[in-house]
Amino acid sequence: MYTLVYSINNTKSPETVYVNLTNSCTNKCIFCLREQKDDVCGADMWHDDNYTLEDIITQFKSFMPTPKEVVFCGYGEPFLRREMMKEFCKYLRANYPDVKIRVNTNGHANAIFKTNIAEEFKGLIDAVSVSLNSSDSDEYDKICLPKIKNAHDEVKKFIKACVDSGIDTTATVVTGFDKIHHIDIQKCEEIAKSLGAKFRNREFITSGY
Ligand code: SF4
Repeated sequence: MYTLVYSINNTKSPETVYVNLTNSCTNKCIFCLREQKDDVCGADMWHDDNYTLEDIITQFKSFMPTPKEVVFCGYGEPFLRREMMKEFCKYLRANYPDVKIRVNTNGHANAIFKTNIAEEFKGLIDAVSVSLNSSDSDEYDKICLPKIKNAHDEVKKFIKACVDSGIDTTATVVTGFDKIHHIDIQKCEEIAKSLGAKFRNREFITSGY
C-alpha cells in the first residue's frame, strides 16, 4: 500500500500527520518537491488515487498516540479529491473531535468546481494555508505554471472566500528556491492582510514539509 498518511522524519508518534490524497495538481510549481524527488522523509509519495477511505483510516490509526493535527498536503492538490477529503474530515470530527484539521492548497478549488468550496468545508476544517506565491499575476504564472486561467486572481478570491467562511486562513509564499525569481514579500503580505488573511513566508526546505 502506498503512502496516504505520513509524518516528517517518519516518526510513528508525531504531533502532526500529513495526508497525501492525490498526485494531481492544477499547478506545476518550479519549486515543487515532486519535480525533484519521489519521497518525503523516506515515504514514497506517488500513487494512482486507487484507495478507499478505510485505507486512509488504517494508516491514520497506525500513528500513536493520536496526532494533534491532520494536514491535507502531499504531492498534489488535496481539494481535487474533495469528496474523499470530506469523508475523512467527517470521520475525524466524529471520532477525534480534538484533532485540528488544516488544508494546504493552491487555492484553485472554487475556479475548478465552480462552487464555493470554502462554504462546503465550513465546520469540517479548522484552517487553510493558501499558496499565494506572488504579488503579481505574471510572476505567479512563471513560478506556478497554472493550468487554469486568471489563476492568481482566483487564488486571491479563494483566500477571501475562506476568510468569509470563518476558516482560519493564511496566505503563504515560498522563498529561497532559486536566485532568479524575486518575490515581493511585503506586497504579498499586504495582499494577504487586505483579504483578511494571515501571512506566512515559507522558506524552501529540500527535505519536505
Ligand atoms: S501547488 Fe503544490 S503540489 Fe501543486 S505543483 Fe505547486 S507545490 Fe506542487
